[in-house]
Amino acid sequence: MGWQGIEGHDDVVGRFVSAETRGRIAGTYLFIGPEGIGKGTFAKALAKSLVCLAPRPGLVACGACVSCLQAAAGSHPDIDVIEKPEDRATIPLEAFIGDRENRMREGLCWRILLRPALGKRKVAIILDADHLAEEGANCLLKTLEEPPDGAVIILVGTALERQLPTIRSRSQIVRFAPLDTEIVRRVLTAGASDTASPDLSAIAAAAARSGGSIARARLLLDPEIDAFRARLLELLSARPLHGVELSKEVQACVEAAGKDAPPRRARLRILLGAALDFFRAALRRDATGAAPGRDDAASDPPLERAVAIWRGTGDDAIDGLRRTLDALDGIDRNAHLPTLVDAWSARLEPAIAPAPPPPPASRAPRA
Ligand SMILES: [Zn+2]
Repeated sequence: MGWQGIEGHDDVVGRFVSAETRGRIAGTYLFIGPEGIGKGTFAKALAKSLVCLAPRPGLVACGACVSCLQAAAGSHPDIDVIEKPEDRATIPLEAFIGDRENRMREGLCWRILLRPALGKRKVAIILDADHLAEEGANCLLKTLEEPPDGAVIILVGTALERQLPTIRSRSQIVRFAPLDTEIVRRVLTAGASDTASPDLSAIAAAAARSGGSIARARLLLDPEIDAFRARLLELLSARPLHGVELSKEVQACVEAAGKDAPPRRARLRILLGAALDFFRAALRRDATGAAPGRDDAASDPPLERAVAIWRGTGDDAIDGLRRTLDALDGIDRNAHLPTLVDAWSARLEPAIAPAPPPPPASRAPRA
């Protein structure tokens, strides 16, 4: 187990430990890296050790002082965490400056100006920084320009290009890399240790396909998703591709995740991720003649079968990739999922089964 129970990201830990030793902790950090690799968890662990009253060397929280106890309970008066509500496309302005009746008497920008209640620092964590709207960012800018003494603001996002330039230029950028497959495997194995007989080969396969994300690996371990993934690959490799059928079956799988939007979105991300794997493998086969999975630790029979059946060209695969990436982007923008799946499936149809050429009637000479 790594720094404060966090697996991986040793380089980032080193950077903060060194900054703390030199008394150089900055006022604003922007954490960047793929989803599900522990950036938010890291930010909270860092906040806990920054406000600890008796920190140990290596920026490790003591775990026993009143500050640590409140941080562990999620009720620390000097640690402020805000995130995008599930039903909103952006972080609402109220989260920064309070609602209409309480402008600048509530919200993160007001709370961070207060004197720390327990120690010397206040820490604000803004999760979902990808969904920071312009007006929220403008309120935040004033705080970033004149940060209160000892305050640390941590924004947590995925890609640098998704952040507003005004925020980017005022933050120290901290990049988080995807976790090693081995770390993902270790975390999943530890999580399954209370199961009577954890399926270690399934865990290894999920870790290998996780792209370094523990969240993604957990979803891949869901037997329902695993079964549908094989079916999805079959649908994608069929020629002609049946868009209506594809859309119907994908939507049924997404709806089976429950009534709430977050698990539905997470499930659709996994399915679209499987489609990306497929188009990538198809493109690779087209370019090099290589079968998928050859240089992967885990073999992937459903993917290998699907690519072997597929009769599209490299251009078709690129089209499929592009359309699937667009759909993934739509999930991030809070698009209506059934419409998004419908549009994605319909757009894949011509990519994989080109429409017949128009009749040559227009060639007839004019009278
Ligand atoms: Zn402590």
